[in-house]
Formats: sequence, C-alpha cells, structure tokens
Amino acid sequence: MLAKRGKLEFPWADTPPPGEAREVAPGLFWARLPLPFRLNHVNVWLLEEDDGWTVIDTGCATPEIIAAWEALLAGPMRGRPVRRVVATHGHVDHIGLSGWMVSRFDADYVGTFAEWMWARVSHMHDVPGSNDAHHYYLVRNGFDDAVAQKLVKSRHRFINLSSPIPGWITEIRDGETVRLGGRSWRVIVTRGHAFEHASFLDEEANILIAGDHLLPKITPVIAVYEMMPKADPLGDYLESFPSFSDVRPDALVLPSHDTPYYGISERILELREHHDKRLAATVEFLRTPRVPLDLSKSMFPHIEGPDNMGFALGETLAHVNHLVRLGAVADVSAGSGTALYQALR
Ligand SMILES: [Zn+2]
Repeated sequence: MLAKRGKLEFPWADTPPPGEAREVAPGLFWARLPLPFRLNHVNVWLLEEDDGWTVIDTGCATPEIIAAWEALLAGPMRGRPVRRVVATHGHVDHIGLSGWMVSRFDADYVGTFAEWMWARVSHMHDVPGSNDAHHYYLVRNGFDDAVAQKLVKSRHRFINLSSPIPGWITEIRDGETVRLGGRSWRVIVTRGHAFEHASFLDEEANILIAGDHLLPKITPVIAVYEMMPKADPLGDYLESFPSFSDVRPDALVLPSHDTPYYGISERILELREHHDKRLAATVEFLRTPRVPLDLSKSMFPHIEGPDNMGFALGETLAHVNHLVRLGAVADVSAGSGTALYQALR
C-alpha cells in the first residue's frame, strides 16, 4: 500500500451530460445526474445484461433527475428494462430514486442490510423518538433550543428527496462475489462514511466501483449522527483502508463524485494525512476545554448557516470521538447538560 508517491490521474477530462452515458469499460457505462446540493452531481453506473440493465445507485427524487433517467432509459439504455438496482449505500443522493425504479420495472433491489435499514428509518417522517434524539444531540453539543428545533424540522427536506425505500432487499455481504453485467465483482463492505458501504471490485478487469468511500478530490463525509452520538466513525474509516489492499495500484477507480481516476494508493495516503492533520488540529484547539459547536466554528471557520454548522458538528465530533477512544481527549462536562471536551496531553 505504501507505494512511492505519485499523482492521481484522470483518464476523462470531461463528464457525460445528463441523459448521456459513456462506456468506461465494455458493457459498463458512466452517467452523471444533477444534484440539488452544493455538491451538484452524482455518478451512477449502468451495466448491460442479456435481459436489460443493472443500475448502481439512482440519485435522489427530483424532477431533474427523473428527466435525466427518462433520457437515459430512452437513449443509451435503448428502452430495455432495469432488472436490478444496486445501492452502494443508503444516502439520499444514492438511493433516493431506488424505490421509484424498483417499482417501475419490478426490479430486484440489492444492497447491504444496514444501509437498507438505515435508509428506511431515516427516510420516514416522524419515527418515534428520532426528533427528540436529534434535538437532544444538538442542544447537548452547543446549539440553542430554537436553532435546534429548526434543524430538526429541516431534516424533512432530505426525507422529501427520496421515493419510498423498497420494502424488501437481496442482501449482499462483505467478501461475496456478485455477477453484474457479465462480470464478477467482489463486494467490499466498509464502515466510516456509512454503516455498511459497499464497493465492488472486478479483479480481472482491474476496476473498483468505490461509491463515496474513496473519492478523488473531496474528503468523504465522516460524521457522528444523533442516533449513535458516541460512535467512532473516523476510527472505522481509517481501519477500512486495508480492505482495499487487494486492489492493484493501477486499478481504474469509479467514484460517486468527481471523475474516474487512477491512483488508489496515493489517494488513501492523502486521506489518511488529511485526517491526521485534522486530529492534530483538534487536539490543539482542545488545549482549553470547548463545547463541540465552538470547536466546529474553529475547525470550519468559513462555514455559515445552521444547516452547514449541523454538518460541521457531525464531522468535528467524528474527530473528537476518535481522540476520546485514543485517550488523547476527555469529556470533562461533569454531568452538566452541555458537552465539554479537553485534550489530555
Ligand atoms: Zn454518501
């Protein structure tokens, strides 16, 4: 893994326009869908089958993405049916239209159990107790009550970006081999960005479909969420890298954001270095005790608005919780209602 340092290479300078698909390997097509976020696109992968198509990820439920799918289905997919919808993980920009597509084609829905379950729960309105847990988490970490209430309500915006999550699933697990598009793919399940994120490795063709786990330009979101406030997703993420040790350094990596790239070993080193720096900075900021939201403002000085601060808090807590597990930081709130952390060395 610790190969000599090189640069990432991007074999395609431009991206397929909405409704068009580019063949990146025989029978494996890249399509790009417009997202209604600052991160304004997501890549999906189309694999040609004898009897139709397998689709890996779907984008979220917006009129623009539905229009892009209609153009793909009528154009490059030649009106042939989608037989299988595969989810890399349960985030809304990946699975938001899976229910729509599964019911339209009576397709099989394939993914990991935890991501399917998480998507089902997190895309339902008013799951008993979840709003209270979210509010408690926000207030405990430094938001005032009114802002916390607003943030809890704004969650519904994301729920509305998903069609109903399919009611049943064909489960895939780490280490299994699945046949998609006439190729054998080894499933690599990792934690950190999501609970059971699936990547797919075609060893013969030397291609990795990497989802959000190993993005080339932006750092995958590694965040603590209200349903598991003491989790250590950053530890999970850093420990996930050996899962890719069988991927050859010259593999073509197909990520969900930005463009396909070569240089997986280099990218893993960069991601590790990024988090090492953020961990060191977190320790420095915690030389004096801080409430997590204040620490977030120091860690993300350019972020504005409560929604973005909510995301920044999740990422800040990922670093804090990892340092707590390493014994470098402690919760010194001493039973008060607001969390307070301090570096121990
Ligand atoms: Zn994601």
